[in-house]
Amino acid sequence: MDERSFAAFLDRYLAYSTRLHHPAIVGHQTPAPEPPGAVADLVHGAINNPMAIYEMGPSAVAVEFAVLNWMIARVGWTPQPLPPAEAPGEHAAGVLTHGGSLANLTGLLAARAAVAPQAWEEGVPGDLAVLVPENSHYSVARAVAIMGLGSRAIYPMETDARGVVRADRLQAARKRVQADGRRCMAVVANACATATGLHDPLRAMGGFCREHGLWFHVDACHGASALLTARYRHLLDGLEFADSVVWDAHKMLQTSTLCAALLVRDAAAFQATFHQEASYLLYGDNRDGIDFVWRAVECTKAGLGLKVLLNLAFRGEDGLGRYVEGRYTMARRFFEVIRARPGFECPWEPESNILCFRYGDDDALQVRIRERLLREGRYHMTSTLLDGRRYLRLTVINPLTDTDTLAGLLDAIEETAAELAG
Ligand SMILES: *Cc1c(COP(=O)(O)O)cnc(C)c1O
Repeated sequence: MDERSFAAFLDRYLAYSTRLHHPAIVGHQTPAPEPPGAVADLVHGAINNPMAIYEMGPSAVAVEFAVLNWMIARVGWTPQPLPPAEAPGEHAAGVLTHGGSLANLTGLLAARAAVAPQAWEEGVPGDLAVLVPENSHYSVARAVAIMGLGSRAIYPMETDARGVVRADRLQAARKRVQADGRRCMAVVANACATATGLHDPLRAMGGFCREHGLWFHVDACHGASALLTARYRHLLDGLEFADSVVWDAHKMLQTSTLCAALLVRDAAAFQATFHQEASYLLYGDNRDGIDFVWRAVECTKAGLGLKVLLNLAFRGEDGLGRYVEGRYTMARRFFEVIRARPGFECPWEPESNILCFRYGDDDALQVRIRERLLREGRYHMTSTLLDGRRYLRLTVINPLTDTDTLAGLLDAIEETAAELAG
């Protein structure tokens, strides 16, 4: 390509891209990235310092360390001291990964190392089980299968009508695992669940896990950023009881993809997760800085921390928190409007910025409306099954999406339904 053909190519490329900056984008959990974070992508793209080994990206290591400690403090744990200082008592540790799915896998690997330390050398014992909410993100079940436990090791937890874990049924679930002659490797909670946007009762679940010595893994990919708000941080009450937490920055911290954090409350437990020798990378103990390679599935790992750091530096923690709070509150306003409109139905009040609703009573109609509006390039919604019924699903993630957007969307749904019927 030369300059002119590249310009033409770029126009065409962008024309067929999804325009996340448009307020009618109310579908997936992908924000329009904040410009400071986009600058971080440019810097990384130019210097290309993968940083799992300290010598390959010293500044990226320092930034990732600082960003992880900021997240760890927000969760309510003790940040990691700078080496070589070993602080007395327990502290946490973490790693930034290329996405929440990989962070879930890494967190469950840490759980496996804690419960079955011999698994690394001898293979996975056949008696492990994982208690998982039914509406967990598929990456949790996938991680269990990848780890070689077999998907039969997944024990679904009882939930209420909204799909939220019933803490009062945990003991029964634990007994089921025991009755099958299995050991519980981890208990998983959603904060929030991808499809519904609802939060499991973290304090009750965490208390139960502490009492019984069970590893508590909280998938807070979407919801952890509410820790930055005064109004909604109560949704994460009890998060500090977790042993491992996953927090996606590329969702509500508005970075580009990919940037996720796995945080582990006990750094020593995390240290036991991976066992690898790589003589071409590392030798001896005498190193200058922190090598993240011991904590990550990835070997070549991008300098992901800069995206978070620059968003934080330019918007401030308050600014990021205001964004999260604004979107959660807008979803509540949408709920009021939708509930009051004849023909529309919301199954429950939203807790986050994810909102489910339907128009009329025909499952197939929901999907046809969605597809028509998407094809016409007017609104980008998603849809989900809840208790066997098909719903439309909104993620109110663009800062410009407001009640006017919603009014237009609801009109468009009614018109489209009438056209499809006629
Ligand atoms: C988005 C999401 C994931 C998957 O994270 P990726 O970053 O897309 O890999 C896992 N769990 C929950 C609850 C999510 O919302």
